[in-house]
Amino acid sequence: MLIHIVEDEVSIRELESYALEKNGYEVRCFENSNDFYDEIKRRTPDLILLDIMLPGDDGLTILGKLRSESAYSMIPIIIISAKTTELDRVKGLDLGADDYMCKPFSVMEMLSRVKARLRNIPEAVPYILNFEGIAMSEGARTVTAGDVPVELTYKEYELLKMFLTSPRIVLRRDDILDKVWGRDSTGRTLDVHIRTLRAKLGEYGKYIKTVRNVGYKLDKDD
Ligand code: CA
Repeated sequence: MLIHIVEDEVSIRELESYALEKNGYEVRCFENSNDFYDEIKRRTPDLILLDIMLPGDDGLTILGKLRSESAYSMIPIIIISAKTTELDRVKGLDLGADDYMCKPFSVMEMLSRVKARLRNIPEAVPYILNFEGIAMSEGARTVTAGDVPVELTYKEYELLKMFLTSPRIVLRRDDILDKVWGRDSTGRTLDVHIRTLRAKLGEYGKYIKTVRNVGYKLDKDD
């Protein structure tokens, strides 16, 4: 498993990389976005630890760029930042970070969050989930709607997967948030992702129904 660390502060970089290497991960460190952009083209990491305040592109810009490119949109990203307000967290998570840790942080907690994120990556088992023209190939992590390929971010994909594995069942907002985002999430995050997911599915987006005051369900009928 290869982990990239983008962090300009040498002491934190060393702390993170030492702990990860001790736990058997291969680690590459970057002081700034340019070195990181060069390297990621050569080899895609399994996970990225990302600082926000960096020289050159800051962490949120890097995050936005990665999430908008299909080759990188699925890589789990954990932000580790000294920016600790609720707004900072929401911004990071809305842009597609999988987790957000505040500095100073505990190394043990960082390791357990890294492990949790890497466990979430599904095994490459080629099975297909289908609902009324929406098809998801779990092996290839691809989605089509009416045979047209749909490019989803990591979170949008996980969200759609939850619907496709429980069609016609009402999913409670809290359950969706727990399952897809973990503890660091807000209702706004969910609504934003539902909106973009519906839009990306085009005419098939209408099958994601809002169940007032409860949550959402994937269904043909209301
Ligand atoms: Ca920094």
